[in-house]
Amino acid sequence: MIRLHDSLTRSPRELAPAQPDGVFRFYNCGPTVYAAAHIGNFRTFLVNDLLRRLLELEFGPGRVLHVRNITDVDDKTIRRAREEGRPLGDVTRQWTEKFHADCAALNMLPPHHEPRATGRIADQVDMINSLLAKGHAYTASDGSVYFKISSFPDYGALSRVRERELKRGVSGAPAGAADADEKEDGTDFALWKAAKPDDGPNRWSGPRGAAEGRPGWHIECSAMSRALLGPTLDLHTGGVDLLFPHHENEIAQSQCCNGVTFSRHWYHSEHLLVDGRKMSKSLGNLYTLDQLRGMGHPPAVLRYALLAGHPRKQLNFTLGSLHAAGKALATLRNYRARLAERPAAANAPAAAERTPFDAVLGHLRDDLNTPAALGALFTIAAEKPASASLGEFDRVIGVFGFDLSEPEPRQAAAIPDEIRRLAGLRWAAKQSKNFAEADRLRAEIAAAGWTMLDAKADYTLVPKK
Ligand SMILES: [Zn+2]
Repeated sequence: MIRLHDSLTRSPRELAPAQPDGVFRFYNCGPTVYAAAHIGNFRTFLVNDLLRRLLELEFGPGRVLHVRNITDVDDKTIRRAREEGRPLGDVTRQWTEKFHADCAALNMLPPHHEPRATGRIADQVDMINSLLAKGHAYTASDGSVYFKISSFPDYGALSRVRERELKRGVSGAPAGAADADEKEDGTDFALWKAAKPDDGPNRWSGPRGAAEGRPGWHIECSAMSRALLGPTLDLHTGGVDLLFPHHENEIAQSQCCNGVTFSRHWYHSEHLLVDGRKMSKSLGNLYTLDQLRGMGHPPAVLRYALLAGHPRKQLNFTLGSLHAAGKALATLRNYRARLAERPAAANAPAAAERTPFDAVLGHLRDDLNTPAALGALFTIAAEKPASASLGEFDRVIGVFGFDLSEPEPRQAAAIPDEIRRLAGLRWAAKQSKNFAEADRLRAEIAAAGWTMLDAKADYTLVPKK
């Protein structure tokens, strides 16, 4: 039995599939693809990956259906495409591929479905139409559609926002409510955003009576989770920063549209701090996987460091924590080697019902207590491998998703994000036969110490000799 803290009831509750097919329906909010994800994003995704592995151990492979979306249209993605003079789809494809490469390097299991917002506009329009028909939404004079918060009395149950912020009234409108004058109430949020000139060609035909435009961010998760998992999820997770307003809004949309509980269980992992401070571009402490690799830290070590802290507590990341993580992985690697050296009979599955690793899994099943689970694991690794078998050890390591192979040799040069960005721009300029701009960018990339090797369909970046 897995017990996990539920953010809605604020208590640990047992996880179990509700549908008679016995399939556990698991949804996470995915990345917005306009830049490389940073390690704070990856903390959340790694906690979800650990949970996915634990759920599969509990319910059996094939008994967990995992969906994570890709936000490929919003203000940030459109701005990036405009700044680079590239089609939105090119920019979001580039960063989706980068995200997938980073996930693979961190040994994360891909979700079973990964819908993109622009690939499922019809599902979102359908849902908005249904909310309009039921009186939970209205069209503003500019053709945008808003959700009417006053039509959903349960609004705020997850975040207790009614007690916190709505009390402040309309003046407490959430950040980003620049167009509050179009709304009936300042706290109402956009389901559909009428196209603005800056949106360029990134517009779709909208719900009934609405202008051409694009879906709001919140409706994405409600519509795509319903399409792929049905109206009720067994578990919905995300970082604590998504609790309000994003998840609150997802609940409002889904429950008003479908008339049933949206998610039976909510789980939020906490923030990552870097050197004791919130990550931010201006502080220069916003690391990406590539930056850490460039400093010689393999992704497997980052995975360990980000999972070592209790997921529901803030975790302070330092470069020192990576060194500690590297040592911990080396200890586990050595222990595994000692198990593997023994005669096969010693590694036969234990006849007893219980194995020393039950304690490790027990801590994970108790609200994903990773520090206690790792503590129990190292207690075993410190002893002679008498009662443990290699298969049992590998099974537990598999739940953590730790890669115990020899660490990759120190990378001489990971490609910095800025060079990747310039290379993308140059490639786009060359494809559109803007050779003067392509040459200018090639010179800029060369000045930064990199060479672009062009092939027919693609290019490679290598450090300049
Ligand atoms: Zn979401």
